Amino acid sequence: MKIAVIGAGPGGLTLARVLQRHGIPVTVYERDDDPGARDQGGTLDMQQDTGQVALEAAGLLDDFLALSRPEGQGGRIADRSGRILADQPARPGDLASPEIDRGELRGLLLGSLEPGTVRWGSVLERAEPGRLHLRGGDTVEADLIVGADGAWSRVRPLVSPARPEYSGVTFVELRITDVDEAHPEIAALVGDGMLFALGDRKGLLCQRNGHGVVRVYAAFAAELGATHERADLYRIFEGWGAPLLRLLDECEPAVVDRPMFALPVPHTWEHVPGVTLLGDAAHLMSPFSGLGANTAMLDGADLALAIAEEPDLSAAVRRYERLMFPRAARNAEGAAEGLAGILEDDALEGSLAHVGRRSS
Ligand SMILES: Cc1cc2nc3c(=O)[nH]c(=O)nc-3n(C[C@H](O)[C@H](O)[C@H](O)COP(=O)(O)OP(=O)(O)OC[C@H]3O[C@@H](n4cnc5c(N)ncnc54)[C@H](O)[C@@H]3O)c2cc1C
Repeated sequence: MKIAVIGAGPGGLTLARVLQRHGIPVTVYERDDDPGARDQGGTLDMQQDTGQVALEAAGLLDDFLALSRPEGQGGRIADRSGRILADQPARPGDLASPEIDRGELRGLLLGSLEPGTVRWGSVLERAEPGRLHLRGGDTVEADLIVGADGAWSRVRPLVSPARPEYSGVTFVELRITDVDEAHPEIAALVGDGMLFALGDRKGLLCQRNGHGVVRVYAAFAAELGATHERADLYRIFEGWGAPLLRLLDECEPAVVDRPMFALPVPHTWEHVPGVTLLGDAAHLMSPFSGLGANTAMLDGADLALAIAEEPDLSAAVRRYERLMFPRAARNAEGAAEGLAGILEDDALEGSLAHVGRRSS
């Protein structure tokens, strides 16, 4: 049985790890040249009923808990002046959704795999049932091809014509380093977890990462293809309070546009022998569910367990897809509502009501 996974993101790596724990061989083809080839991005919370279930199946839950930041579970909401209207620090001993930097999560998963499992610098150009075509002309035969290759999956066309659609909302990502020493006001404003500042149908969504880093996503409606410099953000957030504009003053000069795309909901397909998808390749959703990586990992664990337990690959993939489709649809619906909510006039009131419901 030859299983080829495309993509060494959280989903593909969890699949590989759980397969190997059951003695099933697997190879992961990843386009990055090496594990440090690019910044892996911000922090993720691993939730008890999704990401942590997958980490348990991978035998990595204790290692994760040792690396994670439970104090990062706290959250604050502010208005456009920067006035904090709700502040919910993490509860002592709460392990419902501790945070971990993506790079550390990837390192944890990679470190658990047998040497040589990931073929770095392998870019999938095209897939057909049973065969991968890699950049440079190599081909690879496989009994099962798993597209864990994210939003713009090149495996997806084998099962579905669906393409991600632009939501109308762009995040511009800012990064502030050494916050505790060099930017203490920002450290105090954001706290140990998240700060959402909302107003004018826009948001400054801040998250504390590990190692003294704060990432900020400036979220607003924008034309697809529009690009933004830091200077543009002063115009977009004109009139916002000084404590929030300080985020723009003190971030690194390079900012990154991240237009938010999502796949149609629900996204399903008729079973195709020898091929399936997981994670963003199957159900790309806005980050507002906080579940993209969590469900990608759960997909990986569920698929691996089905392969270990079912009599043949086709039965295993069918079992996995039956489980994954409704779960993905539920999460993606919530994520779409969350993203749309930020563009509503009462986004601030809605968030405060949500926090009130959670704490009562
Ligand atoms: C701003 C932002 C914040 C987020 N916050 C959260 C959060 O708090 N919690 C959460 O759970 N989720 C969050 N998400 C979502 C989460 O990042 C994704 O859902 C998750 O990374 C999906 O994992 P994946 O393994 O399916 O795909 P990816 O992480 O996208 O990994 C895909 C891998 O495939 C590789 N690849 C792609 N194409 C090819 C190719 N042709 N050949 C070979 N390799 C290829 C890529 O290099 C990559 O390593 C957030 C997303 C964004 C944009």
